Amino acid sequence: MITRSSALLQRPAPETQPLPVQARWQTQLAGAIRDPRELCRRLGLDTAWQDGAARGHALFEVRVPEAYLARIRPGDPSDPLLHQVLPLIEEDHPVAGYVADPLAEAEHTPARGLIHKYAGRVLLIASPACAVNCRYCFRRHFPYAENAPSRAQWEESLDYIREDPTIREAILSGGDPLAASDRQLAWLVERLDAIPHLRRLRIHTRLPVVIPERIDAALLGWLSATRLQKVMVLHINHANEIDEAVIAACRRLSDAGVTLLNQSVLLRGVNDSVEALAALSERLFEAGVLPYYLHVLDPVAGAAHFDVSDDQARELVAGLREVLPGFLMPRLVREIPGEASKTPL
Ligand code: SF4
Repeated sequence: MITRSSALLQRPAPETQPLPVQARWQTQLAGAIRDPRELCRRLGLDTAWQDGAARGHALFEVRVPEAYLARIRPGDPSDPLLHQVLPLIEEDHPVAGYVADPLAEAEHTPARGLIHKYAGRVLLIASPACAVNCRYCFRRHFPYAENAPSRAQWEESLDYIREDPTIREAILSGGDPLAASDRQLAWLVERLDAIPHLRRLRIHTRLPVVIPERIDAALLGWLSATRLQKVMVLHINHANEIDEAVIAACRRLSDAGVTLLNQSVLLRGVNDSVEALAALSERLFEAGVLPYYLHVLDPVAGAAHFDVSDDQARELVAGLREVLPGFLMPRLVREIPGEASKTPL
């Protein structure tokens, strides 16, 4: 019997242009570099970097797909993309105030794999996997094994949403939700679609940036089929992450009726200058994406070396305001556990 979800997967993509002929995203995901020494070797970094990378990798494994690696300048340890993915020895240095669960998410998990922190919206952990492991990630210690999604778990989350008519928006998060298969995502979105009080589907993802081929016909099929308004919040921290393949992926999403926003994290050594932040906003707009949030770093254990002080963050944003039109200005925010929303700085 053909279920509705399998029918969604068979539906042709809405665009008429053929998709680029490239390696399938699953192949790239499976082939991502997971060995810190190999990462250093491929980028021409010497043994000193390799030893530090091995220490950091033991705490949070390295993962870098080829499509992202291709955007990193070989032989340049200061490359802003490399800095986001290369484990460092500093990750093994405890720093006061930096903890495993900086946002106290464990206190807001009323059903397995579901986080309900803010009024009107809930977040579902749709996949425990990521296409890339970002060294500053606030969920680098998240107990994914206890929250690994399954249909039984999603049924619990769906029941929770069905029973609360104040929930208007479902947010798919992770890990990276788009690391789940299209069959799983079509199944989940079909059921979200059937909950009458839900209006919006939001997807927080880095996959269209890391492996742009993820935005393929199968994904566009289930995404186009839902009645829910669709918002995708990308996670891009530097203009160099946006190549032509990313721009093409964003165009496919826009054509499917998806509103595209971006959130960044302010990171020392990556984007802590007016020039870098301005270039990011300009490049985002070229890709059809509006800057949304600029987060200060969440104090997660192992990431203190990325910290930018609040005073410097405010100075940077003031400088940015002098060179950018208002619609390209991200909002500088901090997430504080227990607050009803993000807190502007
Ligand atoms: S893709 Fe997102 S969730 Fe995954 S490691 Fe990077 S920041 Fe964390």
